[in-house]
Amino acid sequence: MLLRHTTPEIKDRKALMVNPAKTCQPIGAMYAALGVHGCLPHSHGSQGCYAYHRSTLTRHFKEPVMAATSAFTEGASVFGGQANLLQAIDNIFTVYEPEVIAVHTTCLSETIGDDIPQIVNKAGTDGKIPAGKYVFHANTPSYVGSHVTGYANMTKAMVDYFAERNGKKSKAVNLIPGFVEPSDMTEIKRLATVMGVESIMFPDTSNVLNGPLTGKYKMYPEGGVTIDQLKTTGSSTGSIALGEICAGAAAKALDAKCKVRCEILNLPIGLHDTDIFIDTLRRMAGINVPEEINLERGQLVDAISDWQQYFYGKRVALVGDPDQLLSLTRFLVALDMQPVYIVTGSPAGKKYEATLRETVAEVPVEVKIKVPGDMFLLHQWIKNEPVDLIMGNTYCKYIAKDEDIPYVRFGFPILDRMGHSYFSTMGYRGALRLLEKMLDVLLDRKDRNSTDIDFELVL
Ligand code: SF4
Repeated sequence: MLLRHTTPEIKDRKALMVNPAKTCQPIGAMYAALGVHGCLPHSHGSQGCYAYHRSTLTRHFKEPVMAATSAFTEGASVFGGQANLLQAIDNIFTVYEPEVIAVHTTCLSETIGDDIPQIVNKAGTDGKIPAGKYVFHANTPSYVGSHVTGYANMTKAMVDYFAERNGKKSKAVNLIPGFVEPSDMTEIKRLATVMGVESIMFPDTSNVLNGPLTGKYKMYPEGGVTIDQLKTTGSSTGSIALGEICAGAAAKALDAKCKVRCEILNLPIGLHDTDIFIDTLRRMAGINVPEEINLERGQLVDAISDWQQYFYGKRVALVGDPDQLLSLTRFLVALDMQPVYIVTGSPAGKKYEATLRETVAEVPVEVKIKVPGDMFLLHQWIKNEPVDLIMGNTYCKYIAKDEDIPYVRFGFPILDRMGHSYFSTMGYRGALRLLEKMLDVLLDRKDRNSTDIDFELVL
């Protein structure tokens, strides 16, 4: 038993989190920054933070994640990090030649109270930012929020620094994805392309963190939204934010700054939320849904009706980020599954929790939800009343092993499997993949548990 200290007896805890289902803010900020073409993320803090952030992203995506650090030592920790950041900006543009540097703070620089806009302005007036190059920033103190907050803050910073209104409206629709995989970003863009909708996605980590091996090292891969594209987002016909917690702030900021109307939707996971995304695209762009999309939808509906009997009534424990959990829960409920335990480590607010509770209102058994919660509590719930399936990040594998429960990896981080960077779980095709992954583990368990008499070849 790896988690042998987890007891079934549940005690009320207020201050202590054990195995929290979240990581720290700068990881999200670093990930979002990598979705800007030619961008070098810069961690304004100590080397330890930066090493942790880079290694977590590298382990999840299995790609080298480049970033820089202000490398605070005792002096900067006491007197502030202005000198370090000015020197860093100078060095980075001289040595690594990015188009843009995205600075995020850490717990330490936030506690000191470094004024990043003032330092960036000084770097500009001191001539440390070459012509045509940029530095932007987001505040990401990790004693508040989680990696999803950091992602939201950095994405909003893209609007605050770059979006412009040029007086003319273009036909483009801004697509602002939440903290999702590069493969999901590709799929969302593909759906827009098939619909015939011109789109600008930001941030966009496709072809950045799932790029090809070509034999030639490229510090700044092909993908990512360009600064010129970010500037034109202020003239787009509208914005669609996918995930309120991660993408909502950027869409609202764009509306406030450039009068670009926005719709804030759930992530397009599963049938219902993909339908809403497609319909919103259709309305915003003033087009019809093409037959290719109808075909994909029809295939998903067919697969659901063919296999629903194996999902019916299955009790599921879910761990993940708020935006993902909301859509995933809705999808599972539509399959007549029972998401009985739902935990996110990210503080997402009372409104979010109320929406999540509405989503499970028709589940015919008690549903336990903890926002924010931890995986220690989830494990205790499971010990008291087991589930048929666990879905969540890599850390769930300990619970799945100890309790011998089928398990599907979903969310962030996934440190011990591949596939997430290449195969999306968004849209109708992504929902098919989710069905496949869940069915595989559920039916493998059914086969293993079958006696010789009821072991079936054909299901
Ligand atoms: S929680 Fe704070 S101190 Fe720890 S790695 Fe994240 S930014 Fe650094």
